Amino acid sequence: MSGQDTAGGTWSAPGRVNLIGDHTDYNAGFALPFALPQRTTVTARPRTDGRVTATSGDLEPGDFPTTTQPGDVTGWAAYVAGIAWVLGEHLGTPVPGADLQIVSEVPVGSGLSSSHSLECAVALALLGLAGAEVPREELALLVQRAENDYVGAPTGLLDQTAILRSQDGHLSFFDARDLTVEPVPCDLDAAGLTLLVIDPHAPHQLVDGGYASRREACERAARELGVPTLREVEDVDAALASLTDDETRRRARHVLTENQRVLECVALARRGDLAGIGPLMTASHASMRDDFANSVPVVDRTVEAALAGGALGARMTGGGFGGAVVALVPREAVPEVRAAVTAAAADAGLEAPVVLDVRPSRGAGRD
Ligand code: ADP
Ligand code: MG
Repeated sequence: MSGQDTAGGTWSAPGRVNLIGDHTDYNAGFALPFALPQRTTVTARPRTDGRVTATSGDLEPGDFPTTTQPGDVTGWAAYVAGIAWVLGEHLGTPVPGADLQIVSEVPVGSGLSSSHSLECAVALALLGLAGAEVPREELALLVQRAENDYVGAPTGLLDQTAILRSQDGHLSFFDARDLTVEPVPCDLDAAGLTLLVIDPHAPHQLVDGGYASRREACERAARELGVPTLREVEDVDAALASLTDDETRRRARHVLTENQRVLECVALARRGDLAGIGPLMTASHASMRDDFANSVPVVDRTVEAALAGGALGARMTGGGFGGAVVALVPREAVPEVRAAVTAAAADAGLEAPVVLDVRPSRGAGRD
């Protein structure tokens, strides 16, 4: 780390989308996310009075001591303070004081991980000012701790890993058991394809504690199968046949078949057959809708409209119960897909969805 960094600078981190592999991370399974072109940028200048200030658009600025503890700061600035706290704990000394100016292109609350994008950019900026380095694998764990223990949001490791460890033009094949990331080439232009992220503004429906109950069902299935996690299941058909409770079996079937779909997608991408990924994406959506029961009608309709408009595959992405859709689309079909998802929203009396044309981009770093 150079003295140039301790004098200040600019760091940025992307949003992320998961192409396929949802609800597999806490089952020690596989996922295939990538970094978005949309980024959160943090311009950082050192301060000598032991305080951190943070500004973002018209939001109420944050201002807190570098010795901040969980509970001190609430609202959006808690994401910044949580990072200062966790890095102080990790380094064994408070982070340097700083003025942080935050500008973001990542849509907030659309399931594109604006919160982790902010946290990762702030983490790199504060580490830069401190003249310290933390390996990316470890930094992902620290960012998870900040979000869990300071902000109070229960999140896994997938998002921070994609944001911190992705490479331009590549998908990130993530193994949540071994915490490894393998870059998988994804040259959309060469294949005449694009990826659309479609946010139909589906309200998140967490009425029945959906995430927790899905997690419990997966843990129950693993217990009944006598394995530490669903990742350790070797014979998928035999395992599913031996689960007697229908709901438990369906939840496990999503996770077990999703892991297989991720591996198939990785193999296809490595062969350069990106179009072949489409049907696996659509199968993943059906698995979430029918077996994991974590989709919502607005999202289902968006997926159907994208496919009717010519997408090769489409699926809800992220934790579910709302959120965004990712669709693999031949370049020439983009106008038709946009029109179809917009018409579907209008039919349902909803405002037009936000449609982003994206490509796998570089992970977080110094600008
Ligand atoms: P997402 O799926 O976008 O991560 P979350 O609800 O997890 O949705 O996080 C959104 C929250 O993160 C916002 O309400 C805000 O508190 C914070 N946040 C994200 N990006 C920014 C930003 N650029 N400036 C200020 N706060 C932000
Ligand atoms: Mg978030």
